Amino acid sequence: MGTEETSLNGENKNFIELEIDKDLASGRFDHVMTRFPPEPNGYLHIGHAKSILLNYGLAKEYGGTFNLRFDDTNPTKEKSEFVESIKEDVAWLGADYEGRLYFASDYFDQMYEIALKLIRNGKAYVSDLTAQEIREYRGTLTEPGKNDPNRDRSVEENLDLFTRMKNGEFADGEKTLRAKIDMSSSNINMRDPILYRVAHMSHQNTGDKWCIYPMYDFAHPIEDAVEGISHSICTLEFEDHRPLYDWVVREAGFEQPPRQIEFAKLYLKNVVTGKRYIKKLVEDGIVDGWDDPRLVSISGLRRRGYTPSSIKKFVDMAGVSKSQAVNDYAALEYCIREDLKPACARMLAVLDPVKLVIDNWPEGVTEELEAPNNLENEALGSRKVTFSGELWIEREDFMEEPPKKYYRLYPGNEVRLMYAYFVTCTSFEKDENGKVTVIHCTYDPETKSGSGFNARKVKGTIHWVNAADAGEATVRLYENIIDEEKGVYNEDGSLNLNPNSLTTVTAYVEPALMKAKAFDRFQFIRNGFFCADCKDSREGAPVFNRIVSLKSSFRLPK
Ligand code: ATP
Ligand code: MG
Repeated sequence: MGTEETSLNGENKNFIELEIDKDLASGRFDHVMTRFPPEPNGYLHIGHAKSILLNYGLAKEYGGTFNLRFDDTNPTKEKSEFVESIKEDVAWLGADYEGRLYFASDYFDQMYEIALKLIRNGKAYVSDLTAQEIREYRGTLTEPGKNDPNRDRSVEENLDLFTRMKNGEFADGEKTLRAKIDMSSSNINMRDPILYRVAHMSHQNTGDKWCIYPMYDFAHPIEDAVEGISHSICTLEFEDHRPLYDWVVREAGFEQPPRQIEFAKLYLKNVVTGKRYIKKLVEDGIVDGWDDPRLVSISGLRRRGYTPSSIKKFVDMAGVSKSQAVNDYAALEYCIREDLKPACARMLAVLDPVKLVIDNWPEGVTEELEAPNNLENEALGSRKVTFSGELWIEREDFMEEPPKKYYRLYPGNEVRLMYAYFVTCTSFEKDENGKVTVIHCTYDPETKSGSGFNARKVKGTIHWVNAADAGEATVRLYENIIDEEKGVYNEDGSLNLNPNSLTTVTAYVEPALMKAKAFDRFQFIRNGFFCADCKDSREGAPVFNRIVSLKSSFRLPK
């Protein structure tokens, strides 16, 4: 999707914008109205975010309107829980539909009237064929279909039968209403598609009013046309359905029928996106609900700590195209890093702690040191952190026998403790299993940070927290839920799960982090960006989700 700047000066428009320009110039439309039409049968994911931001962005760009419409024509799978979550996600992404919230089921009466009109015009008929027979009659890509034996029923008989379908006189599957188009069409979608089926089911919105329900290909164009949508933007798999879309709005007699335009789905390499698969992970209890931070559901991304602007940036970078492309998750990580780098305070947290004792530290003394919150963003100010002779440092910042180019702590080596002093490792202790338990060092009082000391330099700087007042925090580290080596799917269609997608550790953190509120985001120095979990974090007992590490192999495409 082009940003507003690029679109307004006429450059770098995507192909949809170019088509809209043509339609406005030719007078086919005098306004732009778009919609996002989710089926409320699951939570939204990053692919939906692309569709939402594209549709909303176009409406904004052309001074038009944007509708949120629930495509709730299928009563079996739909739940109001999903309706609520979708509304929340759309609003969170900033796609303001300004109260223009609609339900396809609100148009059931109009759809029924249109079906009657088609019957009266000889464009639809009631069929007695079973689903199996309809499939057999349909033909294949290489063979034409066969006409339905009921194809030439009279208008009167069709009207009577369809009315009786509506009145509940037939069982599920006993009758259908079919469009009368062309059983020899090269496009299978045009071979007398089903418009209505009998289904004795309660609907979340209309209750038991209906026992016939419209099929998607009949309902969707009518929903668009009734609302006055100009450009009905959908994904490529509907390209072959476009002739049917056009047929429905034409035969229904809409004066300014909407225009369907297809674009390629957003597809992330080695990431589970399809609603169906996410649903299975939830139902199998492999993840902690639809908003598990390992998922790319919008609620999962939100809970993980992603921002709406990072998602928008990612979607913009991915662009809008007619040909299927594959995007890297690393690009999404790049976008959130860019967003958070200047925005978050850089805090001290040790994820894999080992004790560091400064043997020559004066007993009982605690110093307060000034720690800048973010050197890239002075507006974030600074804070005080305490320092004394017993600290926690990262286990990986000490090595008994260091390899070449290891500049952190090892016996005899000197490093800087961030914001504080130079320390030199003098010895260490191990337990019976050979695990290092305490590292001893001495500090040089002349080397205090900010004192201007420059008599000698050190190559390594490590972070720490003061043992006396450090708090304990639960920290969750994530990997892809999929085993990337093996790809997303097994041969039988099941998912290749990574058993290490979630690691939980107890970290020592500076006291300020103990007061974190849901969705507060921080950089933990050298460890990445973290977000206080909105479900499990409590003041005094924080739980942090790692949003993304600091390191990246991602390079912006030229
Ligand atoms: P899924 O494929 O995950 O099951 P869906 O297409 O069944 O999703 P809908 O609720 O029918 O989900 O989709 C609502 C809108 O979102 C549709 O216009 C659809 O084309 C669009 N959409 C769905 N997935 C993607 C995607 N990966 N990229 C872009 N748009 C998408
Ligand atoms: Mg769908």
